[in-house]
Amino acid sequence: MALKVGVPNLFIKGWMEEKFAQAVQEAAQKACGWKGEVLFSVASDLFQDMRAEEAVARSEPSPAAAETPATRVEPQEANPRMCLDDFVVAQCNQLAYAAAMEVCFQFEPAFNRLFIHGGVGLGKTHMLQGMWQKLRDQTCDGQAIYTTAEKWTNHYIYALTSNRLEGFRQKYRTVKYLLIDDVHFLKNKQGIQEEFLHTFDALDSSNKRIILASDSHPHDLEHVTKNLITRFLSGMVAKLDAPDEATRERILRTKMRRTRYRLPDDVLAYMAEYADVNIRELEGLVTKIVALASLNRAPITVDLARECMADLSHTRSAVVTIKDIEHEVSEATGVTRSEMHSKRRTRLVSRARHICMYLSRQLTHKSCRDIGSHFGGMKHSSVLSACKSMQERLEEDADLARMVSRLKDKLGG
Ligand code: ADP
Ligand code: MG
Repeated sequence: MALKVGVPNLFIKGWMEEKFAQAVQEAAQKACGWKGEVLFSVASDLFQDMRAEEAVARSEPSPAAAETPATRVEPQEANPRMCLDDFVVAQCNQLAYAAAMEVCFQFEPAFNRLFIHGGVGLGKTHMLQGMWQKLRDQTCDGQAIYTTAEKWTNHYIYALTSNRLEGFRQKYRTVKYLLIDDVHFLKNKQGIQEEFLHTFDALDSSNKRIILASDSHPHDLEHVTKNLITRFLSGMVAKLDAPDEATRERILRTKMRRTRYRLPDDVLAYMAEYADVNIRELEGLVTKIVALASLNRAPITVDLARECMADLSHTRSAVVTIKDIEHEVSEATGVTRSEMHSKRRTRLVSRARHICMYLSRQLTHKSCRDIGSHFGGMKHSSVLSACKSMQERLEEDADLARMVSRLKDKLGG
């Protein structure tokens, strides 16, 4: 094992090895008691930081930078499948959507900066691409830029290393609408963040409109400078939540409009009900179902969909359904499914309902909101507290614990 010390480039690596190996060795021992080998290794992040810091300080690339081969910067392409017409607006995204519309299309918007955050596959890119495409249709070319933070970074490095910094800054600091996706890419890249901050400030000071998207809230972006986080928080911040079942179904239907396939309603409903929340996976699933059906010259049925879904990596839990759970709980408790869905609150019925909710949380990918809406529009907080109190009762009541454990085994959990 060796202690690795990051350095920005080969030149500095050689220099450190030659002149400072002994000093670093001693410092490592002093700081953390390390007595083993010390190695210097080139870290690309440090290289980028160094370039960016030099450029910010002098506004021109260093001679060493000019030696770096320039990377070609591909222009961002519009994805026609991600137009605004195909974006389903629902409770999970309506705040972010309304805020983005405000920033892009209001004459005098209430705010001109928006930070959208949410997990993978929840529609951040679709929303930004959609806004951008609509802006491009409505405004003169070049007034709106959509790009990813990664492409923006590549463009910056390219500009730095090919003496085109002026043009780069002119482009990004004067555009009317700047939409940057996957901002979390800037993590750990201090020099790049510095340039980004200047871009942000230049746009903001002239009231230009900025929309950023990231996989996490600004506060949760680690290794991003405080200055930048403050800027991200200074505008509107909106979250994308996971779509509920009804929204997933609407999204699937919208997607199907663009294909030549027709999936029967019950298959669509089944997929929306039992698939994971990630819509990207749902799309893959459609392709698979259609391919299998045409290979086997078989009709597209719920059974086929179930078979395809059982092959997914998270299979087992994805195919245990709330209905399966209700069926087993009903067998075990004698409370019928319709009683569970009724307003009855007798001890037996409530207990059966709570067992169902508890097992649904444990054995399916359903969110509390999904489970709540399955049980006639119960609030997600009520589902959460039902599950909590069930957990507590299981610790106190051995008979109940045995029954729930048997149910779990039966359902394959
Ligand atoms: P993210 O960028 O948040 O990871 P994407 O925007 O790439 O997610 O969305 C993943 C897939 O889900 C895409 O095919 C996208 O079209 C689809 N999608 C997500 N949300 C919606 C929505 N509200 N309406 C229509 N399609 C959606
Ligand atoms: Mg994305």
